[in-house]
Order: sequence, then C-alpha cells, then structure tokens
Amino acid sequence: MKPLPFSELVLEPARLRRALEQMLARSNPPQSLLIVGIPGLGKRTLARSLAAAWLCPERTPQGHCQICPVCQKWSEAGEHPDLRVLKPDPDQIRIDAVRETRTWASFAPAVAPLRFVILEEAHRLNPAAANALLKTLEEPPPKYHFILTAPASDLLLQTILSRCRIVRMGVLTTEGVYQHLKTRFNLPDATLQTLAEFSEGAIGRAVRWAHALQSDSSARESQSVRSELDALQSLLQVFARLGEASLDEALRLAYEFREACKALEGGAEARSPRAALALGLEYLIQWYRDSLALGYPNASLRFSSHMQALSQLATRFRAAERMRDLQAITEARRAILGNANAQMVAEHLFIQLLRT
Ligand SMILES: [Zn+2]
Repeated sequence: MKPLPFSELVLEPARLRRALEQMLARSNPPQSLLIVGIPGLGKRTLARSLAAAWLCPERTPQGHCQICPVCQKWSEAGEHPDLRVLKPDPDQIRIDAVRETRTWASFAPAVAPLRFVILEEAHRLNPAAANALLKTLEEPPPKYHFILTAPASDLLLQTILSRCRIVRMGVLTTEGVYQHLKTRFNLPDATLQTLAEFSEGAIGRAVRWAHALQSDSSARESQSVRSELDALQSLLQVFARLGEASLDEALRLAYEFREACKALEGGAEARSPRAALALGLEYLIQWYRDSLALGYPNASLRFSSHMQALSQLATRFRAAERMRDLQAITEARRAILGNANAQMVAEHLFIQLLRT
C-alpha cells in the first residue's frame, strides 16, 4: 500500500499530532526517530507516512503532496527508491542487513533530497546488528535518516535510545475507535462496535479488521480476520458465564478458554501459543476492569455491549473479590509469558474465579 498522507492518520494523544506537525514544518527531519507503542497502533503506517512526507520536497505539515515527481515514485506496494525497510527475518534483524543498508546509503539519493531507512521492530536487532547500527547512528552518512519502531523503548540499547527522538503512540477509547471506523467503513453498526471493543484501542488493528471484512469475503485475509473475531466472540462467551457458572464447571471453562485462545494463534500478528493465551488473559483483565467500572457514572467500558453479563458478575462477587481476582489474572498472564504450564495456570485461575 502507498503511504497515507500524515493528515489522514488517526493519532493519540492529540499533542502527538501537533508535535509531529511541528517536526514536519522544519527544514530537516531528525537524524533518528523512534516510534514506540503496543502492537496494532499503526507504528508502521506512521513511519511510512513520515518518511513519505520528509522525502517530498513539496511537503506541508499535513504530509507529502502525492503528486510531485518524488511522490510519484511510490509503488503500489509501498516501495520507494530512496527508502529501505529493515525488519526481522524471520525473528532477528541481522548484521548483514544493517551493513548492506550502509552501503546503499553511501550512494546519493535517487530522486528525493534525502534517504530514509525504516527499522521495524528494532528491538529484534541482534547484538552484532545493534552495534553496527549504533556506529551508523554515531557517524551518519549525509542525507541519511532513520525511523525505528518498537513496542517499548526499554527494549532497546540505551546507547541507541540516546541517539533517537522518541515518539510515543497511545491507544484510543473504544468510542474513539468506533467513531473513526464509522467514518471510513460501510459495515453494520454492531460489527463496528464489536471491532472497536476487540481492538483494545489499537486503531491500526481495528482498521485492518474492518478493511478485511469490507473487502471480498472469500479472500484469505478476510477469512482469517473472521476466524479471529469468532475466537474473540467465543472468549467473551466464556467470560459471560463467570457470573453464573458453578465451581464444578471451572475446568470446563478453563478448557474452553484455552480452545478459544488457540484460535487466536498465528493470524496477521503471527502470535505464538503463549502470546495468544496472554492476549486472552488481557481481554479477561479488561472484562474484570469493566465489571469494576460499572459502579462509576460515565465510566468508559471496553465491552459496553455485554452490560448484562458484566452486571451479573458484579452482582455475584463483591468488588473486593473481583479486585483480588484481577490480581490473580494478572499473575496468570505473567506466568504464561514465562514458562508456566498453560493448562495448570488456566485451571487454577478459573477455580479461583468461580470460588465464592
Ligand atoms: Zn511530493
């Protein structure tokens, strides 16, 4: 896909947009920029949009012009002669890739006034590659700029961090995601609401889902999005029973929870089995947070279309019990991301949740 003009991106918080507009108004981009935020926020989209803006000699604070000779060089696949993209292959960025890029950068820009390198998931630079990159950042070739992306800044070497301007992307509210989807996609309201609830405020993920659903329903990506959404629906069905199931049903619910998480493995974000379980537990954390927020006026709920099941949970267990359970879920998530046995963790957790 061609890069989106900066003005079309959805950015949180609002001051982030203002700061980036100011950056675009200056004559030169920062030497190196690091974009951080959880998966699904649209870090890659932002990186491409900023690179496109800085490559364009006619740019404005709204982004690249899309019509000048430099902008016309963008291919449909989102490639440009003055841009290099490095990403993990398959799980690391290696030194050869960094060296090869350095050689590429020793040539003058092809059409634009400068050249850009985007390093996606820069925390996956292996140590040798990270050192090679650091050397390049310390003595950058002229007209050569970097944009790095990573889920969190503390995953990078301090020495690399200290050379980067850091841009932090935030999540939107469920309502914010819903409103944005509504302006861009022609899908039923209930579907948009579900996508917004499942997106965890990650607008990039919500937009990708909506795109896939709106396009040809037989396409492979569209099918994989549908099965991912089905899996999330099954998860919520498991959660909805926590308000009425007896303790005898704990192991059954733990089993159904793990099955629903299995269906979240792979997908566009290539989730590992542990990452899929951890995601399932994140939704459960959100479910308990929602049940605790019910008591507050104007609380913004993630799963507002499941009000009845949330109230049932809140009626069955006192707030203090649900606080304690929230703690147990958070600990279970930590254990899953470590090396704990998934079945044992899930069973232990659901027994804890149903104990009255
Ligand atoms: Zn242009």
